[in-house]
Amino acid sequence: MLEHGVLIVGSGLAGMRAALEVSEDPDLDVALLTKVHPLRSHSGAAQGGIAASLNNSNDEDSWELHMYDTVKGADFLADQNAAEILAREAPENIFELEHWGCAFSRLENGLIAQRRFGGHTQPRAVYAADRTGHALLTVLFEQLFRRGVKVYSEWYALDLVLRDNVCQGVVVYDILTGQIDAIAAKAVLFATGGYGRAFQTTTNAAASTGDGIVMAYRAGIPLEDMEFVQFHPTGLQGSGILLSEAARGEGAHILNAEGRRFMEDYAPERMELAPRDIVARAEQTEIDEGRGVTDKKDSVFMDFSPIGEERIRYALPSVLHLARDFAGIDPLQAPVPIQPTAHYSMGGIPCDVDGMVRLKDQNDTPIVGFYAAGECSCVSVHGANRLGTNSLLEAVVFGRRAGRAIRTAVRDLAPTRIEEGDLQRAVAEVDRLLKGDGPERAGAIRQELREVMMIDCGVFRTRPQLENCLSTLKNLQERYQRIAIDDKGWQFNTDLVEAIELGHMLEYAEVIITGALAREESRGGHFRKDFPTRDDQRWHKHTLAYRTDDGPRLAYADVNMQPQYRDPFPLEERKY
Ligand SMILES: Cc1cc2nc3c(=O)[nH]c(=O)nc-3n(C[C@H](O)[C@H](O)[C@H](O)COP(=O)(O)OP(=O)(O)OC[C@H]3O[C@@H](n4cnc5c(N)ncnc54)[C@H](O)[C@@H]3O)c2cc1C
Repeated sequence: MLEHGVLIVGSGLAGMRAALEVSEDPDLDVALLTKVHPLRSHSGAAQGGIAASLNNSNDEDSWELHMYDTVKGADFLADQNAAEILAREAPENIFELEHWGCAFSRLENGLIAQRRFGGHTQPRAVYAADRTGHALLTVLFEQLFRRGVKVYSEWYALDLVLRDNVCQGVVVYDILTGQIDAIAAKAVLFATGGYGRAFQTTTNAAASTGDGIVMAYRAGIPLEDMEFVQFHPTGLQGSGILLSEAARGEGAHILNAEGRRFMEDYAPERMELAPRDIVARAEQTEIDEGRGVTDKKDSVFMDFSPIGEERIRYALPSVLHLARDFAGIDPLQAPVPIQPTAHYSMGGIPCDVDGMVRLKDQNDTPIVGFYAAGECSCVSVHGANRLGTNSLLEAVVFGRRAGRAIRTAVRDLAPTRIEEGDLQRAVAEVDRLLKGDGPERAGAIRQELREVMMIDCGVFRTRPQLENCLSTLKNLQERYQRIAIDDKGWQFNTDLVEAIELGHMLEYAEVIITGALAREESRGGHFRKDFPTRDDQRWHKHTLAYRTDDGPRLAYADVNMQPQYRDPFPLEERKY
């Protein structure tokens, strides 16, 4: 058995930022474990920017405005104590990243440049062209390397071990050798990213399969607000690959088959720069009502001509390449067909503003030594809908806070132990998958899951659709019990890894659907055609889903309306 003082699972922005913070104390033994090479974490694909009210492009911004935009963007489901921290601590986090060497784009006067983004009333997106995530991730990786933090690259966490609400460590699988082992740690932080891969059209990397979320769920921790999935309005038609919102921030228009900027019918003030849930629904409505473009009529156009060639080449080089390489269309010559694509997971593991995982029961019981940060967590700063550029910010701000909290807490924590039984449970499950000789294959089940989730649990939802989705899912779960894996070896068995991930997807998809069925209202990313308005009386509350043998059991928790430094923003109608 391996042992570390602190184990961080996931090496995206949140995990690396937390690891760096823990490593400030040279006496602490911190290790980072990741199923893909750290620089291949999905954070590296982030394009558009990271928010902070620096006031470099004008002088009208403030953290209060940033907080207000976040809370309104979240359709008032965000916890206001957390949204306040996000907005207040943003500038200092940006300066810290800059001092470590992050090459942000600049204004003529040398200050960090800032551009507009959907739902933000001020230009507050700090960016490195349209490769912001890559710039941030490499800078953090350099810092970790400098401090000699131990990295387990291409190791897969299989199981979280808790005993009496105290975290003991994690059971892991070395993908290269096939060895299953345990890592005991006094503190474990999950920064395992989102769960967008359960949908057919998605911007998410192949690794975004909600592993950490399901490990926590199976260990008895409820999952929060899982029905809230963000559909981004500007995925490339067909593949769903993201064309950054920065394109609209820079001035691109969205047009229907009549060549009209249809956003004037849906959000006349903010137009293309309304929040994503609103633009995605507008687009889907145009498509559903027959005003889509291309032969399939399943998309609308993004028109780059208002931006101008020089600016496109300077500020949107990746967008240019992605459209050329993956759609065969040159945005400098022609409009690009786009469609809604599953993008961001608002739900996740419930935790407090210092990353400590909490059961959110009557006593708000903490899980001692277990933390979460980044997209897998639900703090909740994004509520029912995240604003663009707030997620990289969340990963950095709350990764740092969790790292700090761990650094202090771990001194008082007792050594932990993983028992043979804990290890054997994971070994038995892997063994079952490897020995299975049934007629089913993971690939086919995954495909059916992703299709039904996209169609019946997508941008628009209704009760009959969700019921159909749930019964299809139950059938897929049953079929999963009869799968066979063609590769029977132990070394670098990606077939096996994908089968394990499919097990996770089948588990959390059920939580998404169950939460969506119960929530009879429309709020942020969750839109019920049969309940098209927001219902604060009944539904201004977080969903909590507990695992039982008969599927998820739902409970609800209050939204935090107690920021520390100002009055809460009262609920209001969300108009743009
Ligand atoms: C294409 C795209 C563009 C985006 N652009 C922006 C943007 O411009 N601005 C913005 O604010 N947000 C953006 N987002 C969202 C943002 O990038 C993510 O929410 C954020 O980077 C998530 O960071 P993370 O550290 O939580 O997780 P990730 O970066 O997803 O990292 C997850 C880590 O967990 C590891 N992991 C997962 N499961 C296991 C396991 N079982 N065992 C071991 N390791 C595991 C992975 O290996 C990986 O290292 C974008 C997202 C996408 C998909």
